[in-house]
Amino acid sequence: MCVQKYITNSLMLKATSGETGEGKGRSWRWRDMLRFPHISQCMTLANTIERRFSSLCVEQPIGRELFRLFCQSTCESRNLSILQAEYEVKSDEERTGFGIQIINRFLNRQSPECVKVVESYSQQCRESLEEWPSKDIFLECAEYVYEYLSGEPFFQYQQSMFFDRFLQWKMLEGQPVTKHTFRWYRLLGKGGFGEVWACQVRASGKMYACKKLEKTHVKKRRGEAMALNEKLILEKLNSRFVVSLAYAYETKHSLCLVLSIMNGGDLRFHIYNIGTPGLEWDRVQFYAAEVCCGLHHLHQQNIVYRDLKPENILLDHNGHIRISDLGLAVMLSEGSLVRGRAGTLGYMAPEVISHSYYGKSPDWWGLGCLVYEMTAGKPPFKGHGERLTESEMERRIQETEEDMNGCFPTFSIPPSFTLCSLPLYYPAQRLGCQQSGVEGVMSHSFFGTINFRRLEAGVIEAPFKPDPRAVYCQDVQDIDEFSTVKGVMLEKTDNEFYMKFNTGRVAIPWQTEMIEMGCFKELNVFGPQGSRPADLDW
Ligand code: ADP
Ligand code: MG
Ligand code: MG
Repeated sequence: MCVQKYITNSLMLKATSGETGEGKGRSWRWRDMLRFPHISQCMTLANTIERRFSSLCVEQPIGRELFRLFCQSTCESRNLSILQAEYEVKSDEERTGFGIQIINRFLNRQSPECVKVVESYSQQCRESLEEWPSKDIFLECAEYVYEYLSGEPFFQYQQSMFFDRFLQWKMLEGQPVTKHTFRWYRLLGKGGFGEVWACQVRASGKMYACKKLEKTHVKKRRGEAMALNEKLILEKLNSRFVVSLAYAYETKHSLCLVLSIMNGGDLRFHIYNIGTPGLEWDRVQFYAAEVCCGLHHLHQQNIVYRDLKPENILLDHNGHIRISDLGLAVMLSEGSLVRGRAGTLGYMAPEVISHSYYGKSPDWWGLGCLVYEMTAGKPPFKGHGERLTESEMERRIQETEEDMNGCFPTFSIPPSFTLCSLPLYYPAQRLGCQQSGVEGVMSHSFFGTINFRRLEAGVIEAPFKPDPRAVYCQDVQDIDEFSTVKGVMLEKTDNEFYMKFNTGRVAIPWQTEMIEMGCFKELNVFGPQGSRPADLDW
């Protein structure tokens, strides 16, 4: 590793050493940056904010926290739905014990934490638990709690100081974002329109990756629609298997997407640049499973990703992966199909190459290619070091059916190699594209040893953890700086597009940041004995 790379990386390491929160990496002025406006300044927001229970008290992390505090302060209703979620991810052996605990704490009249409105479920839950600890024993009960809370308690909440405090947090969320919101570290990579840099939020200490799109480059290559598409899709998503967008803002020269930082390199680097090409079986299976969860999340929102390949799958410092680079992703309108060549040659599905209409099928093709490449240490349609013309590559892809044996050597991987070829058939027979959909993929024997419920809950450890001192990429520092393109004038009309882009903080990731980094806990204090503090006093 070259010296400069090492130094810039160690600065970043030092900055992130307090990543678990508790104040490290925050600016000494952080309290000023996050000073609540007086409640009288929040009235416009109070009158315009959408009053939906699911959004205000369930989906938004700060909202959920404040609603919980409200419930604790006034009534005995707790959010059993949170417990339901925890119960669901317990392994089969743990469930009975944990289920009994829930019943004893919350459904038992003698317990101080008893939730009276659902006490009547006690007997029913206990009986079904004894019979068989299936994962939805508390579902009905939790649904009832949800229904109940969204009524009178939600109404009361909106009259309380807890909701006023929520409005104050929302005002902070709406403050303008500039490059000074962040501290800047090393270059992480280069993209088509600009560089990607590591940065840290001054107010919280949280690290992110900032993908910059140079305005002149975007304009010259007519990339406006693509840039906006990427931003609009990213801000809708909320999955641990897809990079999340926390801020979108503009500077004089660039448009910036602030994303989850993925320090562990991309899969391309891991397949080819560390030891012999290819990955061990347990890693192949684990990454494939996590990608599968990411695709599932995208597909649930009717988004086709279309650009699955090793370099777009990034590792974080714990060795978990996220799907990144959603520039080519597309929203399907309900039940419809799209057409259009998009993706990277060599990974494009036959139906994409042949210009047919398609739905989500190209992504399952992509997963097959990815599994192949991770296992074989080479892409599926090209030999080592082989140079192919575009048309030759296309011909090979479209002739896979006949050529299956030539293309797909049998790997000696336990316990089954069949997934490596199965998803690659033409759409009608391809795994993932049939009636069973994603379930068909997840229940394939290839994933036999993966517990998808626990994987999705983030409680499974990765088989490989990147070395925090290493830099898992080629020497990006050596490449020339991205400069502005000459002769491209930015005009007034461009501003309309920039404004759509420049929307600042994204609610869920930003609120998660505030909680995770400890800012919420330190700032969200009320007066003595739960009285109104001065900033909420009329
Ligand atoms: P483009 O759409 O222009 O190809 P990418 O989103 O692929 O841009 O980003 C370019 C490069 O920047 C990637 O190949 C990767 O090396 C790096 N990069 C992108 N996103 C992140 C991230 N979230 N964390 C770390 N590095 C990233
Ligand atoms: Mg890319
Ligand atoms: Mg892209």
